[in-house]
Amino acid sequence: MNLLLYGAPGSGKGTQANMLRSHFGIPHIATGDMLRAEIAADTELGRQAQPILAAGKYVSDEIMIGIVRHRLGEPDCVPGFIMDGFPRTVPQAEALDDLMAELGKRFDRVIYLKVPVEELLRRLSGRLVCPTCQRTYPPGTASCQADASSLVQREDDRPAAVRPRIEIYLEKTVPVLDHYRIGGLVSEIDGRGTIEEISRQVLAAANGRVVKKQTA
Ligand code: ADP
Repeated sequence: MNLLLYGAPGSGKGTQANMLRSHFGIPHIATGDMLRAEIAADTELGRQAQPILAAGKYVSDEIMIGIVRHRLGEPDCVPGFIMDGFPRTVPQAEALDDLMAELGKRFDRVIYLKVPVEELLRRLSGRLVCPTCQRTYPPGTASCQADASSLVQREDDRPAAVRPRIEIYLEKTVPVLDHYRIGGLVSEIDGRGTIEEISRQVLAAANGRVVKKQTA
């Protein structure tokens, strides 16, 4: 099962990816988490990426394609994977098509979590994250429900970086959706509502069922 999660920053991709990972037992490939791990380990790539992430901008296509190429070649990806945060530009999408073809793989579904811009701005400003498992929480939450770690604010969730992230998403990442719409692979899911309701729809989409909203 190869799944691609698509949506704006703050749309809930990370939360749903965690659910899909436990459900299907396949790895979650989150390019943002991979970059943050490089920054934490103070690698050459991490040092290059740090100011770019802090400003809410995109790391170059060349670097990101290299990272994903390397990751998809690892053995744990053989049974399938959940891609989150990549591709974010049309050249990245084209490179991913080539890479998937080389590996003899294809995406089963592209799951689009749709959330209006005002709601994204509200969710991102002040959100807190667990430094251990990357789960996110609303402002004011003390510790992670899963592992009790103290929560922190991501540098790019500070107000100065939130708007640039949404703007670059609208400019560079919205066109990526058309790339997959042409292939008829996209399931669009309303990203507002309870996590459980959204998870139900995401699972239905991943399993190839038509996504319907549950009526009370
Ligand atoms: P979010 O989707 O909430 O913005 P991510 O954790 O997916 O957060 O990504 C954080 C940052 O990492 C992005 O704002 C960007 O700077 C960088 N990044 C992650 N993936 C990519 C990518 N595919 N292309 C370019 N930059 C990326």
